[in-house]
Amino acid sequence: MTQQETDRRVRSIAIVGGGTAGWMSAAAISKFFGRSIDVVLIESEEIGIIGVGEATVPHLSTFNHQLEIDEAEFVRQVQGTFKLGIQFNDWGKIGDSYIHGFGTIGRDLGLMPFHQYWLKARAQGQAKDISEYSLNTRAAPLGKFMSPPSDAPPNSPLAEIAYAYHFDAVSYARFLRRYAEDRGARRIEGKVVAVNQNGETGFVESVELESGQLISADLFLDCTGFRALLIEGTLNAGFEDWTHWLPVDRALVVPCEKVGPPTPYTRSTAHKAGWQFRIPLQHRTGNGHIYSSQFSTEEEAAEILLNTLDGPALADPKLLRFTTGKLRKLWDRNVIAIGLAGGFLEPLESTAIYLIQSGINRLMKLFPTADCDPVLQDIYNRQANFEYERIRDFIVLHYHATERDDTEFWNYVRTMSVSDELKSNIDLFRANGQFFRNGEELFGLTSWVEVMLGQGIYPQTYHPAVDWVSNADMLALVSHVEKVIASNVQLMPQHEDFIERCCSSRSPQFEVRARHKF
Ligand SMILES: Cc1cc2nc3c(=O)[nH]c(=O)nc-3n(C[C@H](O)[C@H](O)[C@H](O)COP(=O)(O)OP(=O)(O)OC[C@H]3O[C@@H](n4cnc5c(N)ncnc54)[C@H](O)[C@@H]3O)c2cc1C
Repeated sequence: MTQQETDRRVRSIAIVGGGTAGWMSAAAISKFFGRSIDVVLIESEEIGIIGVGEATVPHLSTFNHQLEIDEAEFVRQVQGTFKLGIQFNDWGKIGDSYIHGFGTIGRDLGLMPFHQYWLKARAQGQAKDISEYSLNTRAAPLGKFMSPPSDAPPNSPLAEIAYAYHFDAVSYARFLRRYAEDRGARRIEGKVVAVNQNGETGFVESVELESGQLISADLFLDCTGFRALLIEGTLNAGFEDWTHWLPVDRALVVPCEKVGPPTPYTRSTAHKAGWQFRIPLQHRTGNGHIYSSQFSTEEEAAEILLNTLDGPALADPKLLRFTTGKLRKLWDRNVIAIGLAGGFLEPLESTAIYLIQSGINRLMKLFPTADCDPVLQDIYNRQANFEYERIRDFIVLHYHATERDDTEFWNYVRTMSVSDELKSNIDLFRANGQFFRNGEELFGLTSWVEVMLGQGIYPQTYHPAVDWVSNADMLALVSHVEKVIASNVQLMPQHEDFIERCCSSRSPQFEVRARHKF
C-alpha cells in the first residue's frame, strides 16, 4: 500500500448517540478493529435513550457469537428471557390466536417443504393444526424452553431449536458500554449543539458540544434515535414516509409487575386501532400499545393498555410519537445512520434491533476509506432499501390479511393498496401454498407460511409435486412428524427452570436424552 493510500484510511469514528444502536456499533467496531481506529461515543444523559426495544429475532445470537459474548452471562446481565416466537391474538379475526415461531415446520421431503404434504393431509381431514408440527409453536404455549442440548443428534428437532431473547434495553446498553470501553472505545458525556460541514464536500468534519468541545472524525455514525441529528438534521438525506401501509404512529409504553412465570414468547394482541405487546423479563413485564392517532385518541389507547396489563403498572404510561418509514439514504457522504435515526417500521415483528445489527454488518463489509467512495454508499443504500422494504411487506401482511371489519382502522388496513410484491406473495400462497424467498430477505418460508395461515389465508390446493409420494406414505410422514415433535417437546424443561439453571451458573446444560428424531 502506498503512503497516500495509507493516509486515506479511516482513523477515527465518532458515534453520536448511546442507545442500543450506538453501543452495539461501538462494541462491534472496537471488537473488529481493536485499537487501530479511535472510537468515540457521545451521548447525553439529559436526553437519555428511548429504553424500549426488548424483543429480538434469532440473529442476535450471531452478533453475540461474533463478539464472543457468553450467552448465560448476557442473559443474566440484561434480565433476559428466551423467545420461541410471537403469539398473535385477535389479528385474523377476534378470538383467533396463532404463534409465529422461529425455526422450521416438520421435515421436508424430496423437492417439497413439509407444509405442502400437510396441506394434502389437511384436505383429507387427516391433519391437525399447523402449530402441532413445529417444535417452537408447540412448546411455546406450554411454557417450555431449552437451547439445543449438546447430546441431541443432528436430525432431532431439539438440535435446531431457533430462539431469540427478550431483554431490558437499558441494561443492554450498559452491558455493551462496558464491553466497548474495555476494548478501547471512549465515551464523552454531552449534548451536540452544532454539526460542522466541509464547505466543499458537505462531509461532516466535527460536532460541537454544549460545553464548546469540538469532536472531529473521519466517519460519523448517527445513532441519535428519532432526532436523526446529523443525517437528516444536517445532511437532509430525505425521509420516505410509509404511513400509507403502516398507519400506526404512537406508542404508549408501561412496565408492569411480573405475574407468573415468563412466557417463552412475545404476545401481540390486536386492538381497535393498533395492537399491544407484552414482553416478559426476569424482573418485570414490558408492555406497549402501538396505535394510530388517526383512529384513536390517547385517552382511549391508555384505557385499553391499563385495563389489559397482567399485573399492577410500575409507572405512568409514556407516550412516544413516530412516523413509520425510512431515510432515502442511510449512508450519505461520511455519515451512516444506524438505528432509529435511519428509520422505524414499528415493533410488530421485533425487527429494529436486527436492522441495527445488519447495518453494522453491512458497514463492516463495505468499510470505506475516509473519502467514502460513492459506489460503496450506493451498494449500502440499495441493500438497506431492499431489506427495509421486504420487512415492511411482511409486517403489512399481518394487518392486510384480516377479516376484521369492526373498526375504521381495520377497514382501512384490510382494503388499502399494498406493494405488487406482497400482493403476488399472497396470491401465490392462496393458489397452492408456495412462497419464494426474495434474495436475502429476513423472513423465510416458515415465517410467511405461519403468518399467512394464521391470518386466515388458506391455499386452494397443494403443489402437484406432492403426489410423487403415495397417499399412505404422505399420511405416515405427517403423523410421524407430529409424534416426534410431541415427544421432543415433552423432554423440554419449563422456561423458568431453564433460566434458573442456565443463568445462575455458566456450566450446566440440561441433560436430555434426545432419542426421538426424524
Ligand atoms: C414502542 C417501541 C417498541 C419497540 N420495541 C422493539 C422491539 O421489541 N424490538 C426491537 O428490535 N426494537 C424495538 N423498538 C426499536 C428500538 O427501541 C430501537 O431500535 C433501539 O432502542 C435503538 O434505538 P436508538 O439507539 O436508535 O435510539 P435511542 O435509544 O433513542 O438513542 C439515541 C441516543 O442519542 C443520544 N442523543 C440524541 N440527541 C443527542 C444530542 N443532541 N447530543 C448528544 N446525544 C444525543 C441520546 O442521548 C441517546 O443516547 C421499539 C421502538 C419503540 C418506539
